Amino acid sequence: MEPTGAVQGLRCPDCETIHPLDADQGCPTCGTACTVAYDYDAVDDAALFDRGAPPRDADAATGGQSARGQWQYDALLPFDAADAVTAGEGATPLVAADRLADELSVDSVYIKDESRNPTGTIYDRGMSIATTAIAARAAPEAVEPAALATTGNSGQSAAAYLGRLGVRSYAFVPSRSAFSNKAMINVHGGEMQVVGGRYSDAADAVDEQLAGDYYSLQEFTTPYRQEGAKTLAFELYADLGAVPDVVFVPASTGEVVVGVAAGFEELVTIGVADETPTLVAVQPTGCAPIATAVDSGASAPEPWAVPDTIVGELEVPDPAGGEQAVAALERLNGAAVTVDDDEILESAVAVASNEVIEMGAAGGAAPAGAWRYADDGGFDGDETVVLLNTESGTKTPDILRSHLMGPGG
Ligand SMILES: [Zn+2]
Repeated sequence: MEPTGAVQGLRCPDCETIHPLDADQGCPTCGTACTVAYDYDAVDDAALFDRGAPPRDADAATGGQSARGQWQYDALLPFDAADAVTAGEGATPLVAADRLADELSVDSVYIKDESRNPTGTIYDRGMSIATTAIAARAAPEAVEPAALATTGNSGQSAAAYLGRLGVRSYAFVPSRSAFSNKAMINVHGGEMQVVGGRYSDAADAVDEQLAGDYYSLQEFTTPYRQEGAKTLAFELYADLGAVPDVVFVPASTGEVVVGVAAGFEELVTIGVADETPTLVAVQPTGCAPIATAVDSGASAPEPWAVPDTIVGELEVPDPAGGEQAVAALERLNGAAVTVDDDEILESAVAVASNEVIEMGAAGGAAPAGAWRYADDGGFDGDETVVLLNTESGTKTPDILRSHLMGPGG
């Protein structure tokens, strides 16, 4: 698998070695997780945002420009759009929420609605790229089984994309994962192990049950999932015609925080944008390792001892990308806020009631975080604010509805 365009290969952050793109299970020299390395001088930034031009691979099969989705930004992706394993992920709507802007006393609020991705979550972006990496190998089926531990959504996405490729996949989910996730993992043809306990137990079970003989789709093992989250930054810039002032991101493993931060930083690096936005990570008070590290000035999160939130998607006590997320927030003049479960559900319900958009419980953390940030005096009043809805309301309708029934449901 030869790098194309501006891609140099995979760089190990520890030993600085550049490896080929299929060395995607950790540095062959020292084992550290690698990231994609680009020669930014070689990036054609005019092509990056030339949305008016016909797609290079336009034909009946691709369905034209909209079907290119995130892959229209392949000038800053590890693989060419022509080789992508894609179902049209990305290019999601940016919906103006004027009532929210009034309530938060800011200039404008937009909801970036990632629920419109093929399996209803932001994770389809990264899974499309990670699956493309498998398809690009000399023998894709040799990776079998591909596996990951997941709070639910990324497992559903993995089952869907690996199914497209015809490669056997295993998702290890904690028993508390949403029923919709468990059902759809099987419907997409993925194999599933339901592990008693919580996310950490599912993560432990991958190595125990597969005995190390598997291809990991785990975020921050494969370097490709955070590359998908990166394209969100490009889309926000393209749709707004500028970098937004503040972006609220529900945070769990750190994948989305790290990816979105990298995307905005790359826009500055290639000379398209002058500055990065303020990035605000939002976590539930019942499981907030990243937010706690940011608040205390620690460089990396401590594992959260007793995780307890109704928002299962955000209950990741020992985030794989925690240290990277904390560093990214620091670089972007970012912040972190924590919000109670009630505030999260209240916010998701309010958005559904007033703004059409169906947010899952995890997505509700974004508006809840914005309200908290406003209460804390975080806004000046002239900001353009983006709330990232990471998942569809159809993932957790039971949890959202139970909130309407009051304390104790
Ligand atoms: Zn290394």
